[in-house]
Amino acid sequence: MKSYRKELWFETRNRRELINITRDIQICVAESAIKEGLVLVNAMHITSSIFINDDESGLHHDFEIWLEKLAPEKPHSQYKHNGFEDNADAHLKRTIMGREVVVALTKGELDFGPWEQIFYGEFDGKRRKRVLVKIIGE
Ligand code: ZN
Repeated sequence: MKSYRKELWFETRNRRELINITRDIQICVAESAIKEGLVLVNAMHITSSIFINDDESGLHHDFEIWLEKLAPEKPHSQYKHNGFEDNADAHLKRTIMGREVVVALTKGELDFGPWEQIFYGEFDGKRRKRVLVKIIGE
């Protein structure tokens, strides 16, 4: 069995952003030279997510509204976590949107269903943060 590991770095301009990283993961797959196996992609921080969904701007707007209803950023004082930090909402949003995805690798390609794309979800940005890519297989 072969294995491949890489860290991808992100620094968003805004506190919250959704970034399509499918192309980055396809580049990792090509670098790995693995044709059959599994691709794990996980956020390495507890205030950002990796998830799979549609790359459609209306949906991304809907995610923002939905997440702000569930865990509004402000007022910061509503959260016990916000003593030394102001990012309690980001922890909650990350939990809802998930830590990682696993995608099957078939014949050297990400084996997606229709419209599936991989996203990095940033909920406490404007600083450098990492995503881990691990690929195992043959
Ligand atoms: Zn925190």
